[in-house]
Amino acid sequence: MERRERAHEGPYPNAGPARPGSDCANMARMAVVLAVLLAVAGAAAASPPSLGDPSTPPFPIWPIPQEARYTDDRLLLTDAVIVVPKGDARTQYPGRLLAELMADQFGVTLPVVVEPPPGRTPIVVGEISSPPVASAAGALTASGAVPEKAEGYLLDVGDRGAVVAGRDYRGALYGVSSFVQLVHRWGKQSVAVRRASVRDWPLLSIRWVHVYLPGREQLAFAERYFRDFLLRYKFNGLVLEVGGGMRLDSHPEISAGWRRTVAEWYAHGETMDKLGEGIPLGTANRFAASLHVGVGGGSYVEKEDVRRLAAAAKRFGLEIVPEVQSLTHAYYIAGPHREVAEDPDMTWPDSYCPSNPESYRILFDVLDEYVDVLEPRRVHIGHDEWRAGAFCPRCRGRDTGELYAADVLKVQRHLAERGIETWMWGDHFVDGHNRFGKQWTEGGVVRYERPDTRTARERLVAAAVPLHILNWSGEEGDATFKPLGWPFIIGNFAGSEEKDWPGRVGRGGTLGGEVSSWGAFEEFLLGKLQVPEAAFSINLLWSSHYPKKEVALEQAGILMPEVRRLLASRPAPSLVADPMRFEVLDIAAAFNHAPKGDGWDLSGLKPGRGYSHGLPYAIADPARGPAVAVVARRPGPEPTRVPIPVTGRWASLLFLQSSTGEGRPSIHAGDQTHFPHESSELLGTYEIRFADELVLVHEIRFDETVGPWNAGVGRTYYLTRPVLTGRLPDGRDAVVWASEWTNPRPDVPIVSVTLVGSPGPSGARPILLGVTAVEKPRVEDYR
Ligand SMILES: [Zn+2]
Repeated sequence: MERRERAHEGPYPNAGPARPGSDCANMARMAVVLAVLLAVAGAAAASPPSLGDPSTPPFPIWPIPQEARYTDDRLLLTDAVIVVPKGDARTQYPGRLLAELMADQFGVTLPVVVEPPPGRTPIVVGEISSPPVASAAGALTASGAVPEKAEGYLLDVGDRGAVVAGRDYRGALYGVSSFVQLVHRWGKQSVAVRRASVRDWPLLSIRWVHVYLPGREQLAFAERYFRDFLLRYKFNGLVLEVGGGMRLDSHPEISAGWRRTVAEWYAHGETMDKLGEGIPLGTANRFAASLHVGVGGGSYVEKEDVRRLAAAAKRFGLEIVPEVQSLTHAYYIAGPHREVAEDPDMTWPDSYCPSNPESYRILFDVLDEYVDVLEPRRVHIGHDEWRAGAFCPRCRGRDTGELYAADVLKVQRHLAERGIETWMWGDHFVDGHNRFGKQWTEGGVVRYERPDTRTARERLVAAAVPLHILNWSGEEGDATFKPLGWPFIIGNFAGSEEKDWPGRVGRGGTLGGEVSSWGAFEEFLLGKLQVPEAAFSINLLWSSHYPKKEVALEQAGILMPEVRRLLASRPAPSLVADPMRFEVLDIAAAFNHAPKGDGWDLSGLKPGRGYSHGLPYAIADPARGPAVAVVARRPGPEPTRVPIPVTGRWASLLFLQSSTGEGRPSIHAGDQTHFPHESSELLGTYEIRFADELVLVHEIRFDETVGPWNAGVGRTYYLTRPVLTGRLPDGRDAVVWASEWTNPRPDVPIVSVTLVGSPGPSGARPILLGVTAVEKPRVEDYR
């Protein structure tokens, strides 16, 4: 695979291919373009623009731009200034954003100016409607015009400066997002940007994620996620499920009640083991709606916190669509207001009664408070998975389709009066999904009972009100909503599961998609539930260039360390270390097994030293004897503990690992468990013992930090670095995973490391192939 052996994939993470000396500042002052030896060692300067097939790697910008030409030259930014138009803060923000990103990601500060001083390298950033941007873009005859489409941009990095010209505000932001992906370090304290000319615009206009309102401790992380994940990869909105997660002035009992309800659920304990669902039973052994314990972090935040989030989202071009769940999943209302619950006998009532006017007095108070704080253009009213239909004396005997439609109309009218669009889940309108009412009883438990909503669709069509749908019913949903004229997007979008893309777009007419996370808004959970899928899916929503699925999956894996470096409150040492600080350790003494065994075969891994996106590693040569360490998980003839010869002081250790088979399938870390860190099977641990006898452990979790030996590029884990090396027996690329343990005590010597097998449900055993250590940084690493 020649694409993996490019010359610039050297051992220098986050660094350019060449290591400039102290003369770089002088060169910068001359504002010369430095041709670097990039594609082929020894190639001459000024190689021709590479047009190439945009759907083959490498992908300098992700998602793949509609039109892009890259050269292997660089524009050095040592003397650069960012030029912004005269105007208000919003007019200038795209340029200021670029300055922020340069400072945060590279430690380099570039002045932001309206008039560039002579002799400096200008980077002009703004909307095309601003005269200086128009004139800078107009001077670029070779690059063509700024795309006409909304959110489009023109990006040109030439030999004397650069231009980022957006068709509109978001376009300018997206040009910045692309620009910063072309930047790399130049020496220790300067940066350069790859020369390129890009014209780009989105395929689909709605590119959202679904998240819960973050808890108090996650507010800073939320802003990083907005800027460094959503904006960086050109998402333009988020459905924010709010429920009782904000302190409400009109109903403080709802916020306090929500916190108490979540505490009660934790006290009640997990139901997954007993019921196969993370939901306590309601009356008559019926399942209720899923709990969403992570909304507001299981508690509530202040209104000012939400205002600040909304302001950040607006700055980053992200539309917030609050999801105020109504009718269903309405624990936050029906719990503290049992008098409006459809089934007040439930321990935790999940729905309000649609025949009780008091339900709407409360709901509309709540809606209005969120509308006041978030100023949304659209509101998502939930309405999926209605389970408690026509239980109460007021509703009993009535047509549940009529009840459902009447509820939608009441809420829609309330929003329309405020000029707000109504968005909702579509499952209760789709024949094959929930529309006809279904019941499934097993083991005395009513697993699903959904009221028949057959007449709801016709009633709402007859009412001729505008509805907008999040369709999570597949192509059957597309075929339902398109003829109704109800605009829709794909809800719970998982691009990696799409069989025919963009064919589906052409047939169904979706406006876009929304990638969901059904867990608390925090790094671990988003990393587990959403970030890898979102990184894959955004290319389907934005681009018209589709790499082969394996190539795109590999790309999503390659992006994870970069994403993690940006999102983590403290990036792992390997993500920021100087290239000189990596050391591949010799652990041959620990090897006790050939690289194949009963039901697994890693003998096609490529032996010897390798580099994977900045990470050096080594694979042992099986011709010389045992090449991996495998540990048993229960006492028997093979050891459950294998000593690994690792000692000394290290900032972190990266364990290159795999697994002999499939572990227990993970429990959904979001809505099926209260303890997401336990959702994946523990295969084993690395036991790290210090000189003072303190022992720490690093966990090996199936489907979290390690996959099965034959997974190939098909499993992307936020917490690991995938390492492609060699082949599987069936010819596919082999992937092993580097799982990093960050040492909280880098000044205390480690005296031993032991691989320990954990007893557990599956037969999958951990395999250790190598260890790469990272030294503590030194002062000279920064100079
Ligand atoms: Zn009722």
